[in-house]
Amino acid sequence: MVLAELGGKLRESLRKLHSSSGRVTKDQLNALLSDISRALIESDVNVKMVMTMREQIKTKVMTQIEAEESKGDDQDDQNRRSASHLSKTVQKAVVDELTNLLNPENKAYSLKKGKANVVLFVGLQGSGKTTSIAKFANYHQKRGWKTAMVCADTFRAGAFDQLKQNATKLRVPFYGSYTEADPVLIAEDGVNQFKKEKYEVIIVDTSGRHKQESALFEEMQEISAAVKPNNTVLVIDATQGQAVFDQALAFHSAVDVGSVIVTKLDGGAKGGGALSAVAATESPIIFTGTGEHFEDLESFHPESFVSKLLG
Ligand code: GDP
Repeated sequence: MVLAELGGKLRESLRKLHSSSGRVTKDQLNALLSDISRALIESDVNVKMVMTMREQIKTKVMTQIEAEESKGDDQDDQNRRSASHLSKTVQKAVVDELTNLLNPENKAYSLKKGKANVVLFVGLQGSGKTTSIAKFANYHQKRGWKTAMVCADTFRAGAFDQLKQNATKLRVPFYGSYTEADPVLIAEDGVNQFKKEKYEVIIVDTSGRHKQESALFEEMQEISAAVKPNNTVLVIDATQGQAVFDQALAFHSAVDVGSVIVTKLDGGAKGGGALSAVAATESPIIFTGTGEHFEDLESFHPESFVSKLLG
C-alpha cells in the first residue's frame, strides 16, 4: 500500500511553509492548500471532494487564526500566525476532515446473534467480491457465528465453482445450482433453506459483470427484493483509483448499500478511493482486503486509516 506517499507530500508542503519566517500571508496559506489538494487528488481522492475539503480547511484555519488573534495582546500575534503554528493548525484540520469523511452518519449494521442476518454482496467483476465473501464468512465463522453462503451468480461461468471451493476449504455450507439459470430463484431458495436451518450469517453472492450494467442492476434489485437483506455490502477495488466514486455511486443508486469493503489495499492502491467510496455511498467501510488469503481481512478504523494515509 502506498498510502504513506500522501503523508510525505503533505509534510513536504508544510516544511516549505516552516522555512518561511514571520507572519504567514493568505497567499502562502492558499499555496499550501493547493499543494495539499494536489497531493490528495494524486492519492485518488475524488476531485470534487478535495475541492470541498479545501474550502472547509481554509475556513477552519482562518476562523481559528481570527479567534486566536481576537483574544488580545497577552500572546504574541507574530507567534500565533507563525509558520510553525499555522502548519500544525492545517495538519490538524486535514486529519479531522479526512476522518470525518470516513465517518458517515449511517452506521454499519451490526449482526444480531440468534437471528438470520442476510448479507447481500454486490460489486463489479474482478473487484474481489467472491474472495471477500470467503474472508467475511471465515471471519464470522471463527467468531462463533453459524455462517452459510449462497451463490446467486449465474452469469459468470465458474462463479459457483469458485464459491464452492472456498466454502469447502472453510467448511462453510453453501447453496447454488449448475442447472437453474434464474439467480433470483436461487437466492430466494438458498436464503430460505439456511433460514430454516437457523443460520445466523447468510451471505448472498450476486453476479458482478462489467458490461450490460443496466441488466446487472435490475438483477441485483430483483435479488434484493426477494431476499430482503439486512445489509448490502458493496465491494470496491481500491486500485480503480478515481473511477471508484462513480462506480460506488452507480451501485448506491441502484440498491441500498449499507456498508463497504475496500479490497486490494495491499498492492499499489493509494487509498484515496476508500474515501470516495464512503462519500458516494454515505456508508461506512467495515473491512479492508489486504491480500488474497482468507485471513487477509482487516476491520476498519477511520482514525488509524487516516494516520496511515498521512504516514
Ligand atoms: P470477483 O470477480 O469480484 O468475485 O473477484 P475475485 O474475488 O475473483 O477476485 C479477483 C482477483 O482479485 C483474484 O485474483 C483475487 O485473488 C484478487 N483479490 C481479491 N481481494 C484481494 C485483496 O484484498 N488483495 C489482493 N492483492 N488481491 C485480491
